[in-house]
Order: sequence, then structure tokens, then C-alpha cells
Amino acid sequence: MRQLIQAILAMFSKPNPPVIEAGDGMLSEHFSKAEFACNHCGKLHPSGVMPPLELLDILEGVRAHFGVPVTVNSGYRCPVHNANVGGATASRHMEGDASDIMVKGVSPSAVYDYLNRSMGSAGGLHEYDTFTHVDTRGHKARW
Ligand SMILES: [Zn+2]
Repeated sequence: MRQLIQAILAMFSKPNPPVIEAGDGMLSEHFSKAEFACNHCGKLHPSGVMPPLELLDILEGVRAHFGVPVTVNSGYRCPVHNANVGGATASRHMEGDASDIMVKGVSPSAVYDYLNRSMGSAGGLHEYDTFTHVDTRGHKARW
């Protein structure tokens, strides 16, 4: 009886849609789920569909263009983590479609210039001192 109750409880506690758990799985040729998971709780965006393919394509493009490894410093941030790191209240990191990236041996400004050219009038882009922010919001944003 107790097992039956536990089984029923487990059924109702399943998230819907199923949450993609961070792990060793790859999202694209060179980028893993773990790289996009929240640095604080290890979770990916609860929608289960982030990061979007568009963002992964952009990052694979960066890697192909420069021919060196690309590190994702910050991908998804849960609201707690975003607040902890002083992120913007409407940060795209909380939406799961943003990445702060470092490209081995390449300056953030060179990464920014490449992305600004290749993304044209799409998405968000900003150059920081040590990394470049890129996101796939539905409109152009440069700041
Ligand atoms: Zn978190």
C-alpha cells in the first residue's frame, strides 16, 4: 500500500513538460547541457526547450570561425542565481537564451565584431572586459 501511494505521488510530482536535466549530454557538436546549466543549482530552463537551436548555431559558428574552443561562462540562470550575481531584472539568462562566452585566445571585442557582423539585425550582444554576451531575443539589442 505504501509503495502504491509513493508511485501515485511520484506520478503527480512529475513536471509537465518534462524538465531537461543538466548532465553530460550534448546539445550540439561542441556544447553540452552542463555548460548551459545554472552555475548555482545545476538546472536548465524549466521550459525544457532552452537554449534554443538558434543560439547553439551561433555558438557553433563562433567556434568554426575562430577554430578554437568556446567556453560558456554563464548560460541559464535561475532567478535566485541571477539576483545573487546582480543580473538585470529582465536578464535573458533567466529566459535561457543567453550565453556569456570566452573564445580561447580571442579578445571579447573581436568576438563582438564577428557576431555583430554575422547576426546582423538579430539578437542581443554586448562586449564586456573578459567575455562577450550573446542572446537570441526577438529583436536587435546592442549596449
Ligand atoms: Zn540556480
